[in-house]
Amino acid sequence: MEEYLRRVYPGSGEEFLRKAEAALLEGRRMFVVTANPEILMAAGRGGEARSLLLSEEAEIVPDGISVVKAMGMLGLPVTERITGVDLADKLLHTAGRAGKSVYLLGAKEEVVSALARKLKAHYPSMTLRYHNGYDGHKDAIMKEVSTLAPDLLLVGLGVPAQELLLYRHLQEFRKGVLMGVGGSFDVLSGMKRRAPVAFQKTNTEWLYRIAREPSRLKRFWRSNVKFLGEVRKAARK
Ligand code: UDP
Repeated sequence: MEEYLRRVYPGSGEEFLRKAEAALLEGRRMFVVTANPEILMAAGRGGEARSLLLSEEAEIVPDGISVVKAMGMLGLPVTERITGVDLADKLLHTAGRAGKSVYLLGAKEEVVSALARKLKAHYPSMTLRYHNGYDGHKDAIMKEVSTLAPDLLLVGLGVPAQELLLYRHLQEFRKGVLMGVGGSFDVLSGMKRRAPVAFQKTNTEWLYRIAREPSRLKRFWRSNVKFLGEVRKAARK
């Protein structure tokens, strides 16, 4: 676990945002991975998730309080949680203000189309395309997206499928900030409510999500609890 956590960005969300904005505005390629226990556990099992997290190109941020805690337990420098939904929101506004091109892939049709409408209403000069996350072959869609070379590509298909998809196609993109965003489209479209600020501030957003969707409990147990168990073991070594 430590080998991946060592690669996680230690600075603040603001600093990271500035880095990503610079890549977006200057036309450089940047692959952003928001690391949560699920992708870290998948990497621990080896395979593509492992090489993705160890890849030089992956700019990894700690998305989740347990990742921040884990870094602290291992004595690694870390400032704060940097969430995918916040980064996605801010980067969309940056792209909109600068009239850049954006592609959204993922979520249900009514969700992603509502988000696209909202963004276009705000930023008429933004070039925006989208595809829902349920119809069509994802690799074929990604090939098509790469020919459009968007300045910002957000993929909301869930962790770690979205990161693995981006990683498989990374070399087809010569520019663009590419990032997996989980369920962010549901929140940013206004279709799903994000946890109230009190939960966000006290780092208990996970508790709110489980209370709203009890089916998440199993997933939470499988990833978070096991993850912290592994980190404890590594910290004792
Ligand atoms: N999703 C999708 N296609 C699929 C499965 C999931 O587009 O085949 C979308 C789903 O609609 C949701 C997102 O992927 O918008 C996953 O959301 P979740 O909150 O589970 O992700 P997390 O942020 O917890 O990884």
